[in-house]
Amino acid sequence: MRLILVGPPGAGKGTQAAHLVAKYGIPQLSTGDMLRAAVAAQTPVGLKAKEVMDAGGLVSDEIVVGIIRDRIAEDDAKKGFILDGFPRTLAQAEALDQMLGANSLKLNAVLELRVDQTKLVDRIIKRAEDAKAAGQPVRKDDDPEVFKQRLEAYNRDTAVVVPYYEKTGLLSVIDGMQSIEDVTASIDSVLQGLDEKV
Ligand code: AMP
Repeated sequence: MRLILVGPPGAGKGTQAAHLVAKYGIPQLSTGDMLRAAVAAQTPVGLKAKEVMDAGGLVSDEIVVGIIRDRIAEDDAKKGFILDGFPRTLAQAEALDQMLGANSLKLNAVLELRVDQTKLVDRIIKRAEDAKAAGQPVRKDDDPEVFKQRLEAYNRDTAVVVPYYEKTGLLSVIDGMQSIEDVTASIDSVLQGLDEKV
């Protein structure tokens, strides 16, 4: 099963990806997590990405496409994966198609978590408070001002990915304003429908 989760920051992609990991036994490939790890390890990629990430912008296509190319070639991704936070531009979506096509692989579904963007800032403030209360580090880019930049980047560069996949018939829209459990149930029913079609 090869899936993409798309939606603005704070839409719940990471939460739902964790559920899909447990259900299908395939890895979550989050470019955000991979970039944060690169920043923490101060690798050359991390050093380049840090400033852009802190400002809520997008890291270059070249860097993220390279990261994903390497990651999907790893053994644990052979039977499938969940892409979370990638592709984030049309160029990334096209690069992914090429990568998969070169290996005769196909995507099974693209799940868009559609949300009311006016509610997202509140969600992100809560995410930061929950992390703090749990003694976990708070993401620097979960600051409300930076979050607005991330949302702008989504609307400017990433939203076009949705019609791109709609044209290919791969897109399913999920109401991301439901409770976490109901979003999970909606995703499960879309994926079950796919199984039945096969
Ligand atoms: P996320 O955890 O998915 O919200 O990503 C955190 C930050 O990492 C984003 O705000 C971007 O700066 C960067 N990032 C993650 N994925 C990508 C991507 N596919 N393309 C460009 N930048 C990305």
